[in-house]
Amino acid sequence: MEIALIAHDKKKEEMIKLIKENKDLFSRHSLIATGTTGKMIKDKTGLAVECLMSGPLGGDQQIGSRIAAGEVDLVIFLRDPLTAQPHEPDISALIRICDVHNIPIATNLGTAKLVLQALATME
Ligand code: PGA
Repeated sequence: MEIALIAHDKKKEEMIKLIKENKDLFSRHSLIATGTTGKMIKDKTGLAVECLMSGPLGGDQQIGSRIAAGEVDLVIFLRDPLTAQPHEPDISALIRICDVHNIPIATNLGTAKLVLQALATME
């Protein structure tokens, strides 16, 4: 599967922990990510990640375009609901395009963990 990973700044440590806890599972899939999230994942877990632009500079829109093209199967997007984001319209657009194409998107850790458990049983 092609898995897209995005974490807002205050959620990046949560994302790294989630990936480390499920490293074997993630290593069997292709990973793409927004710029800063992807670089952190590469540096801290050693997994291969295709890094797009940073979210506020267009990375969310790049992931949205991959979703529209049918190239993404799952999105894990750990959002920070307590901090205003300058690229809020891009975030809304990303969630919308997932809904348009029925692509699963986990926007918090609880959902992400459940989705990963389901993915593990599907393998
Ligand atoms: P980043 O982007 O991975 O480049 O920090 C995430 C976001 O804020 O959308």
